[in-house]
Amino acid sequence: MSDKIVMGYWDCPSCGSTGIPGTTYDCPNCGRQRGKETKFYMKSGPVEYVPGHKVAGADWYCDYCGALNSAGRTTCENCGSPKSESKDDYFSLQKPKEPKIETQNTNFKSDGTPNVKNSAPNIRTFGIIAIIILMIILINSFFSRPKDCTFKVQSMSWENSISIEENKTFRESDWYLPSGGRLAYTNSEIRSYESVLDHYETVTKSRQVQDGGHYETSYSDNGDGTFTEHSNFVPDYTTEYYTEEEPVYRQEPVYDTKYYYDIDKWVDERTEKVSGNDKNPYWPKLSLTEKEREAGRSSSYSMSGELTYKSFGKDKTKTEKYTIDESMWREINTGQTLNVTIKDGKIIEWHID
Ligand SMILES: [Zn+2]
Ligand SMILES: [Zn+2]
Repeated sequence: MSDKIVMGYWDCPSCGSTGIPGTTYDCPNCGRQRGKETKFYMKSGPVEYVPGHKVAGADWYCDYCGALNSAGRTTCENCGSPKSESKDDYFSLQKPKEPKIETQNTNFKSDGTPNVKNSAPNIRTFGIIAIIILMIILINSFFSRPKDCTFKVQSMSWENSISIEENKTFRESDWYLPSGGRLAYTNSEIRSYESVLDHYETVTKSRQVQDGGHYETSYSDNGDGTFTEHSNFVPDYTTEYYTEEEPVYRQEPVYDTKYYYDIDKWVDERTEKVSGNDKNPYWPKLSLTEKEREAGRSSSYSMSGELTYKSFGKDKTKTEKYTIDESMWREINTGQTLNVTIKDGKIIEWHID
């Protein structure tokens, strides 16, 4: 379908006449020229075609005398001024004016006074938080810093321990018999399931199919008092129902042989410990049954005594027990006074004057 030209209309704000044909330049009632405020519209009801009308573009207003001219004219019909020196035409006048950008961050309280938000407290809050964090770090490092103290050794101790495992028999099951497993019995059991086609089912489904169509009409403003009619083909759709055969599956168990067997495993049983306050450590005497074995040995050494340390310039004393390594334990003796450096409750350095 080819596009057709239809009549647009305008209203005269001066005398109140309405529905004036768009191709008319002056109000038929009061004679006032169609103003720059004009916005063409279409009437409801059947359209009025304008046969033979050629659309050249938007009507323009002469900048010198204000006369209204058609787009086809390169000079003003009234005063002869060139069109190129006039800026206003129908479309340029329709363009919405740039909205004023107003920068206003002030909002208002309920009583109408501006609620001025001050960003300074935020900065202050951050500053306070930063200082608090810094103080926590400083206090923490103050208390966990290495402290030089003296330690009077009052007693020393050692402890030796041996962990013992026991060989135990367990009843287990699996889909195979592992090495070392003594078969007790087997059983046929469900190991997995598989999908088996059972039957087909008829299901009804729907789909959208094109079923003809229709023309939809739209109009675009030509800016010269007319509109162009556009016809567009719009396809129509209808819902079509159809059936399909769909497979339905059932789950069938798959059986396999399960082995039940006895198997021996070494498991943690107990720990034998001996300790003393002398300097002659020994290992616990083991009397193991046939089903027991040694699984590992460990030693620990410690010393107890009086720790003298400085607290706010004053000497303070408290009883402490420290776990120490073997070489230190061998070097020191009860009654000695050590110079120690303590950090996080541990001796990190020591010497005897
Ligand atoms: Zn009028
Ligand atoms: Zn003019």
